[in-house]
Amino acid sequence: MCSQSRTHVVMFPFMAQGHTLPLLDLAKAFSFKQIKVTIITTPSNATSISSNLDCSSNICLTELPFPSMDELPRGCENTSQLPSMQYFVPFLFATKKLQKPFEQALKRMLESDNPPICVISDFFLGWTLPICETLGVPRLVFHGMSVLSMAISKSSWMHKPHLKTTSVFDPIDLPNLKLPFTLTSKDLPAEILNAQNEDDPLSQYISEVGEADVNSWGVIVNSVEELENSYIPSFESFYARGKAWCLGPLFLYDKMKKVERSINQNHSSFITQWLDDQVSPDSVIYVSFGTQADVSDNQLDEVAFGLEQSGFGFVWVVRSRTWTLTTDVKENLRGRGLIIRDWVDQREILSHRATGGFLSHCGWNSVLESITAGVPILAWPMIAEQPLNARLIADGLGAGLSLNKFQNQGTETVVSRDAICEAVRELMGGEEGNKARERAQALGRVARRAVQIGGSSDSTLNKLVQ
Ligand code: UDP
Repeated sequence: MCSQSRTHVVMFPFMAQGHTLPLLDLAKAFSFKQIKVTIITTPSNATSISSNLDCSSNICLTELPFPSMDELPRGCENTSQLPSMQYFVPFLFATKKLQKPFEQALKRMLESDNPPICVISDFFLGWTLPICETLGVPRLVFHGMSVLSMAISKSSWMHKPHLKTTSVFDPIDLPNLKLPFTLTSKDLPAEILNAQNEDDPLSQYISEVGEADVNSWGVIVNSVEELENSYIPSFESFYARGKAWCLGPLFLYDKMKKVERSINQNHSSFITQWLDDQVSPDSVIYVSFGTQADVSDNQLDEVAFGLEQSGFGFVWVVRSRTWTLTTDVKENLRGRGLIIRDWVDQREILSHRATGGFLSHCGWNSVLESITAGVPILAWPMIAEQPLNARLIADGLGAGLSLNKFQNQGTETVVSRDAICEAVRELMGGEEGNKARERAQALGRVARRAVQIGGSSDSTLNKLVQ
């Protein structure tokens, strides 16, 4: 039941788990502050969002039907339901068809006796800005990415440093951005590298929403000021009238009320029980490549062999519907770990005392969740801005190792089992891994302090609310 209270905010998350979950956490943080939140989403996303909501909260949902499009498989309302990331661009364009229904819904709310004072919509839904402007409501952008990756992306988009190099390994410089590592164009997201190509629809879409982004009233970031201090001024300089509000780690606000987010409760407690049975702390590596990245079955085989050779226990979340564990490794892995093909409570796994490392694709939520739990990362970026997050974690914050360092720099596209084994051993028991663990634990204390009363994120949240 959604109660009526004076201040009312509208949120419109992008339909991807990594974007929706943190915005939902922000909605909960607002709700704790007695602010009413209306979340706009589509029917199937509404079902999973409401399963995450406390019925006594100030949060309600408004549903807009997801537009049908020939290029998209029927029933896909969330990017995690797409058969592959090839459908990502049509998915983005389908969301644009929500413009009219969004305008009508917002208009209705503005005419009600509790009109919203602002709209917070995801970066990918930049087309909401002109509608908000027409209806006279400020729009804040929500970015589910690191400040560093956004500062680099925006600056590279503007200055195109990669066009001045001859090799993807050449160092590139960006004005007003001091980085703790040497940046190369290999680290840049594909849509930036393709930006000069007018036929690239993703770059065109990003260009449009990027313009709306910088002209919005402000930007909300799921990060911690202390972790990304050095890059905030450069990032803010791109916004016409904006300020970057660092409010992370947003999921810690959720913890204050201990709302259960796991979709499959039985699974979750089964994993926790298994972790409870592990005698040594920091003895298990958690492996997940997020909800978006396509990992080939060949590559998954190498991961299985690598984990087998490493000798460490593991919890591994596999999304591939086609991959099966080869019989060669099956016996040796028995009892050594869990392979899960369902949604898990990642935050719970990371905060378990038995978990001592995370082999991760470096999606920003995963990075933040790992740091907050004091767990070092073995960084294996796959797509989008993940290589930049990987550089931040390994070379900037020192709370992880790069898998790249263990790999033969050849033309091979599959990371070998030997490289995976060596890297896992180093992270879990080597000197470098132990240093990264100490650093992750120290940063975890900083991140957890940020949302406590008087902490940097808590103070910023109070200012934003005021
Ligand atoms: N997640 C989870 N259980 C899963 C898979 C993912 O809880 O089985 C959560 C994870 O904790 C994170 C989000 O989904 O909050 C994934 O976001 P991230 O930015 O790490 O990666 P993406 O999936 O967007 O690439």
